[in-house]
Amino acid sequence: MREVDLHVHTTASDGTMSPAEVVRYAKEKGLRAIAITDHDTIEGLDEGIREGKVQKLEVIPGLELSVDYPKGTMHLLGYYIDPDCSQLVEKLMVVQKARSERNFKMLKKLQELGIEVGLSELKRVAGHGQIGRPHFAQIMVQKGYVNSFQEAFDHFLRKGGPAYVEKFKFSPEEAMRIIVEAGGVPVLAHPFTLNQLNKRELEELILELKEKGLEGIEVYYPDHTVQQREFYRYLAEKHGLFISGGSDFHGQTKEGVELGEGYGDIELPYSLVEELKAKRRARFMRA
Ligand code: AMP
Ligand code: ZN
Ligand code: FE
Ligand code: FE
Repeated sequence: MREVDLHVHTTASDGTMSPAEVVRYAKEKGLRAIAITDHDTIEGLDEGIREGKVQKLEVIPGLELSVDYPKGTMHLLGYYIDPDCSQLVEKLMVVQKARSERNFKMLKKLQELGIEVGLSELKRVAGHGQIGRPHFAQIMVQKGYVNSFQEAFDHFLRKGGPAYVEKFKFSPEEAMRIIVEAGGVPVLAHPFTLNQLNKRELEELILELKEKGLEGIEVYYPDHTVQQREFYRYLAEKHGLFISGGSDFHGQTKEGVELGEGYGDIELPYSLVEELKAKRRARFMRA
């Protein structure tokens, strides 16, 4: 049964649908619950939760933090975070400030490469949300510097590319602590981006993260192969971690990825939400 999606972006970060639009879309698609998990921001949660009440669709307040991991890309999802947690708000302000400085540096780098992208254009494309590389890419396509969104990344914006600037990231410990202190359940997002090809090393890494507070792994994810899904599921079960899943829906910035479905092979039951709630309750009992 296709009932939930635990990884969804909105215009608060780099998705193309506003939180209210995403919620209405989820309702249209027949979903019962979604987690709004924007990159490094909780700005979309209020609107999403409000629309959830109108639509009678459960909206789980979440976020996706970028974590420092030199070998690859590590993202940490936090479910059921309290958007009013002052520590969380403060930490996210640090990230936002660093991000705006980074955007300015990338803009300069592009300029040196003969590509003019203005801050006002970025703001227009990003709307009220935070500005990131996908917005740069959109403008580069619009102005004809590249033929496609992907080309903008492949030639300029990809990690290590000529216009790339490193992003501010929390250490895994700090990211986990921020989520836990805001009452959230920390879950490792899309483990395949860790670039950890060795199964034993991946298991060791997950055990290390578990010691630091990790409570789940995102197993069902559009870009995970069947083998990866099987292995991540095995690891989660072996170590008592919550098995999460989601589409990482971004609207038009991730073509082919459909809300609740990914590339069509994702189908998550509501029982995931119940398990997540149980994890959260267990936390309160321990506290
Ligand atoms: P930023 O937060 O500014 O670093 O942008 C990160 C976003 O850029 C990701 O969520 C993806 O949507 C997109 N992205 C990152 N790397 C690539 C890539 N190589 N190709 C296409 N999109 C990418
Ligand atoms: Zn994104
Ligand atoms: Fe991610
Ligand atoms: Fe994501």
